[in-house]
Amino acid sequence: MVPQGSRAELEFGGPLGRLWGSGRVGEWTPTRLPPSPGAAALLLLLPATMFHLLLVARSGPARLLGPPPYLPELEELWSPWALLLCLTWLGLQAALYLLPARKVAEGQELKDKSRLSYPINGFQALVLTALLVGLGVLAGLPLSALPEMLLPLAFAATLIAFIFSLLLYLKALVAPASALAPGGNSGNPIYDFFLGRELNPRICSFDFKYFCELRPGLIGWVLINLALLMQEAELRGSPSLAMWLVNGFQLLYVGDALWHEEAVLTTMDIIHDGFGFMLAFGDLAWVPFTYSLQAQFLLYHPEPLGLPLASVICLINGQSGRGSTLPPPFIRSLFIQHPRAVGYYIFRGANSQKNTFRKNPSDPRVADLETISTATGRRLLVSGWWGMVRHPNYLGDLIMALAWSLPCGVSHLLPYFYLLYFTALLVHREARDEQQCLRKYGLAWHAYCRRVPYRIVPYIY
Ligand code: NDP
Repeated sequence: MVPQGSRAELEFGGPLGRLWGSGRVGEWTPTRLPPSPGAAALLLLLPATMFHLLLVARSGPARLLGPPPYLPELEELWSPWALLLCLTWLGLQAALYLLPARKVAEGQELKDKSRLSYPINGFQALVLTALLVGLGVLAGLPLSALPEMLLPLAFAATLIAFIFSLLLYLKALVAPASALAPGGNSGNPIYDFFLGRELNPRICSFDFKYFCELRPGLIGWVLINLALLMQEAELRGSPSLAMWLVNGFQLLYVGDALWHEEAVLTTMDIIHDGFGFMLAFGDLAWVPFTYSLQAQFLLYHPEPLGLPLASVICLINGQSGRGSTLPPPFIRSLFIQHPRAVGYYIFRGANSQKNTFRKNPSDPRVADLETISTATGRRLLVSGWWGMVRHPNYLGDLIMALAWSLPCGVSHLLPYFYLLYFTALLVHREARDEQQCLRKYGLAWHAYCRRVPYRIVPYIY
């Protein structure tokens, strides 16, 4: 196993940085900092892309490539009300996080051999939020006005992410070495600010990364989708089938993530990445404002969708008929006809299998699967989903991403942004994970790669 730290390679801007500097973390000193153009560029590029998408989605031509329709004035971006709304939202989700949980789960073992505890009450937070929003709408809350506020809300969320990341960076300065993440501690302030220094920043038992990972952003995303659906109903008399599908698929995705909240404890974000701008901005701004892009597009560019095509799209996404929350019976019947179709089935099957195995390898659901041992004592699955490709969960996620875009038709590239971006993200993420696993498992990882040669798509990649 290659030790972390002295020879750990830079991620993101690292390879670019090597054009100018040594590129090895251990060779840098605070006075001779390596350039980190990748991280610095992403600090600007990610928010700029988000605002570009928000502006383009509401413009007539909705052109993904090319300049934005116009550059907004500061007055259009900045609103104290939007900031107050974002802070109230964070406060509400934090209060729901602190409510008694149905279960408290233990995380993976840390460097100092300890384990942290995490409340499993994310789904409860989703249900309580839905109840509160439902009551609010009945009492006259103008939810359908939310789409008009997306620009200032995104600006406020970006501002919060920057300030929050700065506080996290400062907090990490006084954290013990054992609390630091494997990456994000290069000595280059921009790179470390971006990647995140501390692995699990907490105040008492409140875990900031775990809180942000699935709650304010994901629940905010489906709330924005719902507001767009309501505005479409106001504009056109009823929501379109395409809008129902996008809302339904994405609600299933978010509900599933929160229902299986415990599974996040074995993901890269929690076990490997520090908490910095990359995750804070991603969780609090990027996810709610860019993942709702298909619904934003549909509000301004209605797309007729027939039942046969809708049925095929449902099959591609994959739904469980049980528990579908979509009201129109024809949509429910589509899901019941194809109770477990492609994308979701692979995604959920793969994630649950790995999570069950990591929690308890003797669990009867995974005990019969073939494994190989590693020098660390942890074993790797080489059959079941993880014997098909090395990241079957990414494959399922990508198939679902395609199904989210298809209801928007094929006349514009814009609704496919998520699919394109997500493919790039998962290919890059897969490469990062491979490097980490190679460091962790050495020869055993090579053996796994020989046994399971494809990364994400069987026989293709
Ligand atoms: P994974 O859940 O795939 O976790 C990777 C880890 O799993 C590895 O580091 C390794 O850790 C373990 N592992 C890898 N191979 C095996 C094996 N054969 N047997 C047992 N354990 C193995 O990674 P992510 O955190 O990237 O993804 C989690 C989910 O989140 C995915 O479904 C992904 O698609 C989704 N996702 C969604 C995003 C979105 O924006 N919508 C963004 C990012 C991810 P170890 O051995 O240490 O346990």
